[in-house]
Amino acid sequence: MLDLAALTELLASPKKIVITTHHKPDGDAMGSSLGLYNYLIQQGHHASVIAPTDYPAFLSWLPRNGDVIIYTEQAEKSAALIADADLIFCLDFNALSRINEMGVLVGESKAYKIMIDHHLEPQDFDDYRHWNINACATAQLIYDFIVNELHHRELINADVATCLYTGIMTDSASFRLPNTTSTVHRIVADLIDMGAVNWRIHELVYNSATENRLRFLGHCLANCLEVLPEYHTAIIAVNNTDLHKYDVDTGDTEGIVNYALSMADIKLAAFIVERSDRVKLSLRSKGEFPANEICKKYFDGGGHRNAAGGHSSNTLEQVIQQFKTILPEYKKLLNQ
Ligand code: 5GP
Ligand code: MN
Repeated sequence: MLDLAALTELLASPKKIVITTHHKPDGDAMGSSLGLYNYLIQQGHHASVIAPTDYPAFLSWLPRNGDVIIYTEQAEKSAALIADADLIFCLDFNALSRINEMGVLVGESKAYKIMIDHHLEPQDFDDYRHWNINACATAQLIYDFIVNELHHRELINADVATCLYTGIMTDSASFRLPNTTSTVHRIVADLIDMGAVNWRIHELVYNSATENRLRFLGHCLANCLEVLPEYHTAIIAVNNTDLHKYDVDTGDTEGIVNYALSMADIKLAAFIVERSDRVKLSLRSKGEFPANEICKKYFDGGGHRNAAGGHSSNTLEQVIQQFKTILPEYKKLLNQ
């Protein structure tokens, strides 16, 4: 175990540091990782960001994105960095299974492990934890860690601010989710003062679609949407053939589930997609409805109350049926 004083002492001189985040990183995962990276390199640390897999192209403009190592593409180099690290920062996840085979390497490394995260029920693999489920994004906790724990607000330069703004913006669904408190707005105001160009970040993340992505979205809404009024639930299910037909890339499916949730009477929305290796579910909910409970209980997943995910090795049809048979259990909550 490490306390804050010991961690501060460790970080006072250059260290070998690995920063990692969850499988298929999203805006918060990469914004947090590169935000922390851009902070640490200013102090002479030898830091590396290792992502377990690839991630959406709409994040590739993030400052220093070119330095990111993707584990599946450079496994040997990643393994050596993990084994040799003094410190490993685990950001936006709290169970080693979320980083695939890298989980074993991180677990075996002699490095101190620092978990910075906002997901429920953390696994006990870390030596220092900055964890708060009320945070709207891990990037909010990175800001808090740098400013209030390490007292280095002056090291939040425009690159750090840009990355952290991106993490908070994407995980709070553009400052819309209930956990977007006045504190969050004060933090993003501070990040803008420190160089995050808010309107440009919105442009880069949300106005960067390809024609394919738009046509695929049209297909999902016109042909794959099923509304279950009795359960205030909407499902968009997409098969693998259509993914290929529309040449869907990592990231092109991101956010489609929110269109299903945007209907007035819908409390729960599911995006179910047949990937080549397994069926992936993304659930979104409004208000108190616990989307994460369904993912955890039935789909080997988890997440937050209003945004959760999971997967299954069953066929797409079976998963759709299974999801529908779960709904009666939640009928009362869905009708509140
Ligand atoms: P998404 O639907 O965007 O993939 O994920 C939404 C949220 O659910 C994210 O916070 C993510 O961390 C969590 N999540 C997605 N898939 C999984 C999974 O397979 N396991 C767990 N534990 N969480 C997941
Ligand atoms: Mn997050």
